[in-house]
Amino acid sequence: MSSAAVDMVRKASRVFIKAGYSGKHRGWAVFVTIDGREQQVTGWHGYRAGAETRMEELQRQARLKQRPCLTCGRPFMSEGIHNRICPKCKITHADKDTSSYAIGRAI
Ligand SMILES: [Zn+2]
Repeated sequence: MSSAAVDMVRKASRVFIKAGYSGKHRGWAVFVTIDGREQQVTGWHGYRAGAETRMEELQRQARLKQRPCLTCGRPFMSEGIHNRICPKCKITHADKDTSSYAIGRAI
């Protein structure tokens, strides 16, 4: 996975599949529009589905961003604004929920 391609997808106003020719063979590649200019991001795929899979993967990678965890403040790779607690704290949270339930029952 080239991070240059991910950066291009992140900056792009549009990401799309375009058919073209690589040599004499027809192929499909992922293109982006950055500042109104079309740029090819990936090599040519023999099947449209191959280019689509590549585009989805690039878009998923482009969404990943390092964000500070809301609980411990440590930076982690977040998949989006819905994902703000690091995997480590998510596990700790589950433990806390169980213990507070136990305390509630004791009272
Ligand atoms: Zn955390």
